[in-house]
Amino acid sequence: MEQCACVERELDKVLHKFLTYGQHCEQSLEELLHYVGQLRAELASAALQGTPLSATLSLVMSQCCRKIKDTVQKLASDHKDIHSSVSRVGKAIDRNFDSEICGVVSDAVWDSREKQQQQILQMAIVEHLYQQGMLSVAEELCQESTLNVDLDFKQPFLELNRILEALHEQDLGPALEWAISHRQRLLELNSSLEFKLHRLHFIRLLASGPEKQLEALSYARHFQPFARLHQREIQVMMGSLVYLRLGLEKSPYCHLLDNSHWAEICETFTRDACSLLGLSVESPLSVSFASGCVALPVLTNIKAVIEQRQCTGVWSHKDELPIEIELGMKYWYHSVFACPILRQQTSDSNPPIKLICGHVISRDALNKLINGGKLKCPYCPMEQNPADGKRIIF
Ligand SMILES: [Zn+2]
Repeated sequence: MEQCACVERELDKVLHKFLTYGQHCEQSLEELLHYVGQLRAELASAALQGTPLSATLSLVMSQCCRKIKDTVQKLASDHKDIHSSVSRVGKAIDRNFDSEICGVVSDAVWDSREKQQQQILQMAIVEHLYQQGMLSVAEELCQESTLNVDLDFKQPFLELNRILEALHEQDLGPALEWAISHRQRLLELNSSLEFKLHRLHFIRLLASGPEKQLEALSYARHFQPFARLHQREIQVMMGSLVYLRLGLEKSPYCHLLDNSHWAEICETFTRDACSLLGLSVESPLSVSFASGCVALPVLTNIKAVIEQRQCTGVWSHKDELPIEIELGMKYWYHSVFACPILRQQTSDSNPPIKLICGHVISRDALNKLINGGKLKCPYCPMEQNPADGKRIIF
């Protein structure tokens, strides 16, 4: 973070210089224009009177030309000064960040000529853009990369974004409609989204003052299905009604009006809607990026060690890292099983199989190890019938 702050300080300096330069530039040019305008008027009036150009006027004119030249020169040299500040930002970036991070991946990673692999990357970027609500950018990228994204894939993102945009403008309508239509499944997820939305609507009525009291009271019936789970919160809201005349902002219930409730509802909605629709809250691209940031320092260290000891070739697999890197609890999702024989992660088409001796290998490995209808476990090595292996589900 310290490095980022360093670069940011240099950047602030440039921005400040640029701003003052802009103001100064405008002011000097304005003054100059005014001066030239005056001179022009004087010349015009002299021409009207038919008098020849007086010595004074010609002196003023030559002074004016000099002034224009000087001002332009001064502005140009000031502009050059900004260049040096800009280059200082570049130097600060070089000084504070490791420019050699490209070294931790083999070049082959990026020059994949396989169309399928390129499309996976493009798809990840497109998905991220949809998830961030940058719909037009995503569409543009699809067109440019001739990527076909079907409507079924886009639809959930479009809907989420529409509702989130409304929430950002403090419009609860679309979110409430969505939550009510998915009530049962939200309850199964233990979600309090619908209750929180009703609560915000209620608080908004309270904030409008005593004239909305009746409306607020009648709205309170929406809390009924949540009475058991959110009893305490409902009591607080009912209690706040007492202070309606006095003004909620001056009451012990002023925390109800806190703006953080709106940020919270956006978060709750994104989290619950994503889990209901089977989407991840963070896009696969941002998760990969964040894990890359965690892994990068370790990888740069390993690379340095490999180079120092001159044991190149240790890290030649483009799909595999030389060691396991701990990413922290945040990036623990689910257990995966890598086949110890083929060194591949198991999948639905190549599931893990438990042999009768208890050792587990992937089905592909099992098929490869069958010899004359018999299987010899590569570990113990018990001989067995390949059909006795059982599929394991993690
Ligand atoms: Zn075995």
